[in-house]
Amino acid sequence: MKIKFILPALTEAESPFWRPIKYSLFPPLGLATLAAYLDPDDDAEIVDQHVQTLDTSDRPDVVAIQVYITNAYRAYRIADLYRAKGSYVILGGLHVTSLPQEAAAHADTLFIGPAEESFPRFLRDFRDGKPQRVYESRNRTIERIPPIRRDLIHRDRYLVPNSIVVSRGCPHHCDFCYKDAFFEGGRSFYTQTVDDALAEIDRLPGRHLYFLDDHLLGNQRFARGLFDGMMGMNRIFQGAATVDSILRGDLIEDAAKAGLRSIFVGFETLDEANLEISNKKQNLGRNYRRAVDRLHDLGIMINGSFVFGLDGDTPDVFRKTVDWAIESGITTSTFHIATPYPGTNFFRDMQTAKRLETTDWDLYDTRHVVFKSRMDPHKLKSGYDWSYREFYRWSAIARASLFHGSAKHQLKHLFYAGGWKKFEPIWNVVIQLRRLGVMTPLLEAVLSKVTGRGKERIQSASDVVEPVLLGD
Ligand code: SF4
Repeated sequence: MKIKFILPALTEAESPFWRPIKYSLFPPLGLATLAAYLDPDDDAEIVDQHVQTLDTSDRPDVVAIQVYITNAYRAYRIADLYRAKGSYVILGGLHVTSLPQEAAAHADTLFIGPAEESFPRFLRDFRDGKPQRVYESRNRTIERIPPIRRDLIHRDRYLVPNSIVVSRGCPHHCDFCYKDAFFEGGRSFYTQTVDDALAEIDRLPGRHLYFLDDHLLGNQRFARGLFDGMMGMNRIFQGAATVDSILRGDLIEDAAKAGLRSIFVGFETLDEANLEISNKKQNLGRNYRRAVDRLHDLGIMINGSFVFGLDGDTPDVFRKTVDWAIESGITTSTFHIATPYPGTNFFRDMQTAKRLETTDWDLYDTRHVVFKSRMDPHKLKSGYDWSYREFYRWSAIARASLFHGSAKHQLKHLFYAGGWKKFEPIWNVVIQLRRLGVMTPLLEAVLSKVTGRGKERIQSASDVVEPVLLGD
């Protein structure tokens, strides 16, 4: 059987504001996970349209397409094209799970929820000539799943080919998050076994890893076992966790010892009322500044996530948030305009209150105002744009970096924030030359270890780069 897995690029890929580096970070692990269930004599291919040209002149037996909200229209066009040619088209992913009726018009079979258990069922049925119209995930587990098909991933096209996922879902239930919709009807947070996760890490070359789990510290026992197992593996890694998990116990210290150097933290809002209305209970009453200090003391850089336009926000939210992020030494910030994704409680609330302005999914990219916000929508959009500009001004980056007592941490901050937002043309050239792999040592250098808040002086950039190139 010939099967083609496709991750269509979001529609914006044709826009002049397209940022190739943003979509050249991580390979499509979900598709490579499903490919692991194929028979050895199946002919499989993965095409990630964010980094490759999609050639549609072929006619595979099965075309499997991953759909998310801002690639949905393009995914449907590709699906229609292959169905017209006679390929059997299956669709799955977040958007299909949220809006199966919409996706059904473009597919022979739909997958609802995670597919580790339903995809092998489909394969059996398809080979028997009786595939079903819809497969819903029944038993949720990722224990003893086969090793994902990394051989189908073009490593040279990604800055972080060593991305890895060792859990599914998250233990929390924020109203604006896709998670509950995707995992409805079953377990919504579960992990691999520690041994399997360590074996997967072992299979990855080099030092750097990026855990794409929604909440790497979500299961304390699993995380503790993982970090204990990683001690001595000489890895450096990035991941995501919540404020409360960073403040609780000493797990974050274990993570730092195992090699955690940068973390994505969903602060989302500095306003307690907004946390309440978003059901983001795990952040309520938590001292953000204490979490920040704790991470910085461990030499961990922070990528903070913030949402604007929740009902408690007033026009001063932008200045307050950006000032706080800079004064807290947050290295990179991801700002979002609140976006009610289909399937979420936020979407249902906005729909019930007749506050949805559009269902053009291309606009659901967290850069557009798609609902009747309490704040003037023009102010919301311009405040959001202003926040990005203000946070990533060189002067602001320099000011934020000064928060760190250690000169090495300051320099790493400058490199990391500047590299992410200021060197776009360089990234574009590197991507075109397919030389992203040469950036890995630099990334590893920037993520090298710093400890404490001492005042050592840096004479040159090599003070940061050399220790890592020489093995830290
Ligand atoms: S903590 Fe993050 S991943 Fe978990 S439900 Fe909330 S937004 Fe979603």
